[in-house]
Amino acid sequence: MNELQKKIIDLKNKKDALILSHYYQNMDVQKVSDEVGDSFALAKLAQKAKQELIILCGVRFMAESAKILNPEKAVYLPAGDAGCPMADMISPQQVLELRKKHPQAAVVCYVNSSAEVKAQSDICCTSSSAEKIVRSLPNKDIIFIPDRNLGSYVAKKIPEKNIILFEGCCPIHDAVSPDDALSMKKAFPKAKLLVHPECRPQVLEYADYIGSTAEILDWARKTQAQELIIGTESGVYEILKHEMPDKKIMLIREDFLCADMKKTSLEDVLACLEGEKEQLSLPQKELEAARQSLERMVAVK
Ligand code: SF4
Repeated sequence: MNELQKKIIDLKNKKDALILSHYYQNMDVQKVSDEVGDSFALAKLAQKAKQELIILCGVRFMAESAKILNPEKAVYLPAGDAGCPMADMISPQQVLELRKKHPQAAVVCYVNSSAEVKAQSDICCTSSSAEKIVRSLPNKDIIFIPDRNLGSYVAKKIPEKNIILFEGCCPIHDAVSPDDALSMKKAFPKAKLLVHPECRPQVLEYADYIGSTAEILDWARKTQAQELIIGTESGVYEILKHEMPDKKIMLIREDFLCADMKKTSLEDVLACLEGEKEQLSLPQKELEAARQSLERMVAVK
């Protein structure tokens, strides 16, 4: 641990703060964190936290979820400009238009979305709970936002529902091509390919396992396979390479990296602890409405 990391830990303990990091964060930031998890796990950890000060190392929608579930606590997003291009692809107005077009449909919103969009939705879901959430709804028509790839994955699993897709996607996961998957499978025939459902359906067809970030990590830790191809952001690959030095861990494509997720620096984290950054705040009405969508999701899980 370097001097800056030690300083952060000292101050964190003095101030009784909680530092949470997403798996896609830089390793030096993960090292000063109390917990590392996926977006849903982080929101739940934040909800259970005894500390009054929460620093969420991730992108904006994650810190928003932590704030929505903990309105009384001070929540900080260390890199204020760390957004999510997929979350930015849909506006609340577009949700309203979809509702008008499909009045019988329920709106299911992937957690990778803004608080404003969550506030216009009926229920949220994560990549691991999407199928369960959609099945739990009485509506035959489901508007699934914003990720068309995750929505298609769910639609395939539940053919009895009419899933109305929105044309959003994670540009990082969507950039993986079927050729990337095929060439890796050909080059490493013994390797198991683990893919996130934010990837395109044609890529998922080559997968030996499809799951959320946490599920991929879990599967990789339990499998006997000696060679693994990771089909999600490089943070997962870094963690597994570190944990399993004897296994051959590969990334499906070299540039599988979310630039927004890598924006958080140790200096940003320290600045939050030193009170030099602004707390995250949300309009009360939006916060209340978004909380309902998130709490409905938690109740189904
Ligand atoms: S990896 Fe994709 S979904 Fe996740 S924060 Fe980056 S752009 Fe958004």
